Parts: sequence; structure tokens; C-alpha cells
Amino acid sequence: MPVHVHPPLRGQKALVTGASSGIGAGIAQAFGAAGAAVGVNYRSHPDEAERIVEAIRSTGGEAVALKADVSNEDEVRAMFRAFGTTFGRVDILVANSGIQQDAAFAGMTLDQWRRVIDVNLTGQFLCAREAVRRFLAQGRDPSVSRAAGKIICMSSVHEVIPWAGHVNYAASKGGVMLMMKSLAQEVAEMGIRVNGIAPGAIRTPINREAWETPEAERKLLDLIPYGRVGEPEDIAKAAVWLASDDSDYVVGTTLFVDGGMTLYPGFRDNG
Ligand code: NAD
Repeated sequence: MPVHVHPPLRGQKALVTGASSGIGAGIAQAFGAAGAAVGVNYRSHPDEAERIVEAIRSTGGEAVALKADVSNEDEVRAMFRAFGTTFGRVDILVANSGIQQDAAFAGMTLDQWRRVIDVNLTGQFLCAREAVRRFLAQGRDPSVSRAAGKIICMSSVHEVIPWAGHVNYAASKGGVMLMMKSLAQEVAEMGIRVNGIAPGAIRTPINREAWETPEAERKLLDLIPYGRVGEPEDIAKAAVWLASDDSDYVVGTTLFVDGGMTLYPGFRDNG
């Protein structure tokens, strides 16, 4: 009998937020290569989003750039409407947009606190809510997926590792973790799978100062048992799997993709 190997996301429509750079850009391109039509959300750099769209199209994929601030309810709704107009339905959401606004706690402004919670946590709430509404309204299409929809929440190892100087960021990711699990518990019976990815240190613009000089990279590697900084592709491969039917029984889980960062490497020599 001939073996047919289909691209794992063939026929699916995927919206990836914060997809004009870093991890989101990597996921958008991997989704395109895996056969999905991709919405490349961006907030402020249309040229960078178009570059990702072109990269996907140049390999035969379908993609469109969509502008929206994920912390703005009206803009999120408009983005999903535009996505629906272009692709007809939505099968996958990757809620990936995120920011850091670092400050020592005593000096952290309310604006720094709010901005990070607004984008990293409320932004995921707004996008996930819109996705769930659409999954329920459009119904299941067994020809594309066993699930009625999939959501991947981009978290961080800081959903479990406390992070001095980044209290707003760690609080947002801890919030993402329990939002993801509570939502997964609520919508699993409707056939919707919600999971999270917790990246360790990945080479992207968000943490440039942690890897751009050899000294900084050496210090960072002390925290990574596997001995290398991660690349966006490391996360993108995990996202393709979590979005595909290959992970159909995976529900409400955080997948850590961190080179062992959560293994308490400070204890390697007995603490
Ligand atoms: P990045 O800065 O390249 O990506 C963040 C993206 O979010 C950017 O494209 C940015 O334009 C977008 N964004 C910011 N505010 C937005 C808004 N209001 N609306 C829409 N989009 C907005 O950095 P990255 O490392 O690729 O980060 C992606 C995600 O991965 C973030 O959620 C981040 O917290 C998480 N993460 C990154 C690392 C890492 O080491 N790089 C580790 C753990 C988690």
C-alpha cells in the first residue's frame, strides 16, 4: 500500500500574533511550510510582516499580513474579521505577542506594570476569546482536523521560574499558564484543544542584550544545561506539532522547550 505523507497542517487556517519578528515569524514560516494558510499579525512594522508573508508565498504557501494591537478589543475583532474574509475560517490561533518592560520593583511604574499585563495576558485573552467564538460558530471540519480548533498560548519558563527585575513579565506569564489551563478545561468538551509553549532563552530581539556579546552569552549558557541558546525554529517545530493532529490527545499542557533551563542548573554541582 502506498504511504501518503501529508504536510501536518494541510488545509488549516492559522493566525499567529506578533509574527513579524522572532518566534512568531519562525512559527508563521513553519506553519506555511506545514501546509497552513497563515495570518501574520503585526503591530507596527508592516514591512517586516510583508517580508514574512513573501517568504511564505515564495515557497508556495498562502499568507496575509494583519495589523492589530492585541491589547485593543476592537482591533482584535477587526483582525479576526479580516482573517475570516480572506481565508473563510480559522483553525489555529498562536497567541504569541509579548513584551518586556523591565524595572526594579520599587521603581516600576503603573504604566510599565499595565502595559505588560495588557499585551501579554489581556492580549491573549482577547485573541483566544475571539478564536473560541469562531471555532464554536463554524463547527468542526474533520477533513482538516480532528479538533474543532486549537489554541497555543506562548508562555515562558517564567510561568514557573521567578524573575527579579521582571515582576510584571513573570506575573503575566504565570497568568497565561492558568488562563491556558482553565480555558483548556472549559472548552475541551467542545473539541477545542488549548496548550502552551514555555520557551527558555531563544535568540530574538526581545532578549538581545542577553546573547549579543560573548560575555553575555557565556553567562546565559550557565542557565542552559543543553549548552546552546535556542533558535526560533526550536519553538516553531514544537508549535507545528501542538497545532497538528499528531498531538490530538494533548490538552491543557505546557510544553517546555528550554534546553533544560527549568532543571535548576545551579544545583549541577550540588548547589
Ligand atoms: P519579539 O520581540 O521578536 O516578538 C514579540 C512580538 O510581539 C513582536 O513581533 C511585536 O511586534 C509583537 N507585539 C508586541 N506588542 C504587541 C501588541 N500590542 N500587539 C500585537 N503584537 C505585539 O520577541 P520573541 O522572543 O519572538 O517573543 C515572542 C513571545 O515569546 C513573547 O510572548 C515572549 O514573551 C515569548 N518568549 C520569548 C523568549 C525568548 O527567549 N525570546 C522566552 C520565553 C518566552
